[in-house]
Amino acid sequence: MNSSQYHIPYNKPHLTGKEVHYMQDAVLSGQLSGNGKYTKLCQNLFQERFGFGKCLLTTSCTDALEMAAILLEIKEGDEVIVPSYTFVSSANAFVLRGAKIVFVDSREDCPNLNEDLLENLITSKTKAVVVVHYAGVACNMSKIRSLADQYGLFVVEDAAQAIDSYYLDNSQPPKALGAIGDLAAFSFHETKNLTSGEGGMLVINNPKFIERAEIIWEKGTNRSAFFRNEVDKYEWVDIGSSFLPSEVTAAFLYAQLEAIHQIQEKRHHIWNTYFDKLIDWATANKIQLPTIPKYATNNAHLFYLVVNGLDQREKIIAHLRNQGILAIFHYISLHKSPFYREIHGDRELPQSDRFTNSLIRLPLFYDLTDKELGYIIGHVSSISL
Ligand SMILES: *Cc1c(COP(=O)(O)O)cnc(C)c1O
Repeated sequence: MNSSQYHIPYNKPHLTGKEVHYMQDAVLSGQLSGNGKYTKLCQNLFQERFGFGKCLLTTSCTDALEMAAILLEIKEGDEVIVPSYTFVSSANAFVLRGAKIVFVDSREDCPNLNEDLLENLITSKTKAVVVVHYAGVACNMSKIRSLADQYGLFVVEDAAQAIDSYYLDNSQPPKALGAIGDLAAFSFHETKNLTSGEGGMLVINNPKFIERAEIIWEKGTNRSAFFRNEVDKYEWVDIGSSFLPSEVTAAFLYAQLEAIHQIQEKRHHIWNTYFDKLIDWATANKIQLPTIPKYATNNAHLFYLVVNGLDQREKIIAHLRNQGILAIFHYISLHKSPFYREIHGDRELPQSDRFTNSLIRLPLFYDLTDKELGYIIGHVSSISL
């Protein structure tokens, strides 16, 4: 228990108001299974708004990553390069197909993978690089793409956190994250900017994967082609699973997608307020605030502090908890996980470990009020360190 009247959670899922309306429409329409009206509305809107290749809604980002691993025909003996500072699914999806994961360290200025370390990790067995746009901030995609092309590797974007964020290359118009890799995976889990509770999406930018992706999505059958009258019966033609969400989930997501502008505006307001009000305190205490490289934009997914070690982090988290504010740390290096540490070997990934021990996320959700925001900022900046 805390002594304050405030109880500010780390996250609270936001409702735009239209969710139940669209869900009711889906229910009354009589089609509740997947790939109906709302699934198509969402997929088309994502494709048009962000310039994505073919979009397929999935039941989670984890599922979308598993589809990616199947599509790339990952098998025993293949190597996949993945940052260590990420969610388990970025690696697990490929382990399920038999891959050996080769973990890469983070950059110093942000948790994204350090592109300068990639080339040394590439072997004749490397099949793909998985990039994670941490906090919705782009990895250095020009460098990564050109290395991938040079060595014949596929690029998979784990864009779980990266909706409505862009990669900036002076020679080209801004490119939405998720539109760059051969494949990309998004999450609509309730902690993400857009949500359907649980949900995700696979984006297929490399056209050679589109036909097979639809089959894998529909349990290994050519059901999608059947519904387009391209074949006269549908059959088992490949491996696959049940990756598509029901229309009820898609209807919920559609309401969120329609309100994306409003959601993003509010999240940017909160993010910018944190940054502007905490920068002096952070500088004075040698605490790092999120860095947005020149080639990246910010989608206000996370606001985090990188403090000076585990003790300082515990002190800050405890201080905030006593004031009714839930601030939380994030990933634990996957190369040190009970599941993977023996397979990983003894390569040190010091930046990943630094973020493991020193990163704190502050509450950031649509319904956070200015009063609550001021309260959090006041308590963060008055901690004596
Ligand atoms: C949230 C997240 C996932 C998992 O998303 P689910 O939709 O819950 O499967 C994967 N990778 C990253 C980087 C995430 O942030």
